[in-house]
Amino acid sequence: MKAVVITGPGNLEIVEKPVPKPAAGEILVKIKYCGICGSDLHAFETGFLDPATTIGHEFSGIIEEIGKDCAGWSKGDPVTGNNIISCGSCSACTSSRDNLCREVRRLGITDHGTMAEYAVFPAKDLVKLSKQAPLEQLVLTEPLSVALHAVNKVNVNPSDRILIIGAGTIGLTLLALLKQRGIKNVIIFETNPERQAIATKLGASAILNPGQKNPDREISTLTGNQGVNLVFECAGLPETIQEACSRAEAGGKAVILSICYQPVELNFLSLVTQEIDIISAFGKRGSEFRAAAKLIADGLIDLSPLITGVIPLEEVAEAFHHPSGSSIKTLIQF
Ligand SMILES: [Zn+2]
Ligand SMILES: [Zn+2]
Repeated sequence: MKAVVITGPGNLEIVEKPVPKPAAGEILVKIKYCGICGSDLHAFETGFLDPATTIGHEFSGIIEEIGKDCAGWSKGDPVTGNNIISCGSCSACTSSRDNLCREVRRLGITDHGTMAEYAVFPAKDLVKLSKQAPLEQLVLTEPLSVALHAVNKVNVNPSDRILIIGAGTIGLTLLALLKQRGIKNVIIFETNPERQAIATKLGASAILNPGQKNPDREISTLTGNQGVNLVFECAGLPETIQEACSRAEAGGKAVILSICYQPVELNFLSLVTQEIDIISAFGKRGSEFRAAAKLIADGLIDLSPLITGVIPLEEVAEAFHHPSGSSIKTLIQF
């Protein structure tokens, strides 16, 4: 089978590998679509991965072969799956915080991923879908489940005045989720015009370009002089994290769900005197992955505006070398 590996900084190859055999408790999936994620691009730029490991972790596919001790599955079932394989027995897993598992395995990082014609999964981490489920959109279950985890860490209410900083895949799936929850006032900070257009399609109440307008005045007008009580930071830069912490109104919350690789300087004088709660959200739990898949499969959330390209495997190197600024989610079709 063909599989994608990263052999060094800026080097990607399609290699030939044997089709893996599912062990007991495992299922072999024939991949239909695999998304290119920001973390795959980061791995490509830095080359930090083992060159033998197949990359990729956002996928949908069809069951090809079932290992021993997997009741309830059939060849041909459409599936997606959680890329975070938790151990199920550590203190995090047994307290339903499996996103923080101490023995975690990550497909596409510690274990072979899904940017290949076939991939093997523990049956417990797969989600069975209906035959009509939109397999292209279901590739976005992973980012939607990350957004769902962040929303689950704060109680959102329809009356909330919300700001999302950054309309990449996570920011946009979060916007779609908040609209599905009936929240009217969701303002977006985004500078890229194509991303702004997708945010408009998904129902953002306003999109501000913080570099061009006076965001304070705009936010005040948009919220009836109240400000925002909840800020979700999805851009992952020190400046945007600082922005998130300073934008929330007194008594509000800043939820940080992006991954920022640099240290961030914060002004705790204003954070403490304004009682701003900083809440971190990392990854997703298995239950949240299942819930996110159901939202898409049942047609409750339409993430099709995020799919900005579907390419054959032969074009994968080009997509990594020249990721277009306008693309949100490029899918590789197998
Ligand atoms: Zn991802
Ligand atoms: Zn665990």
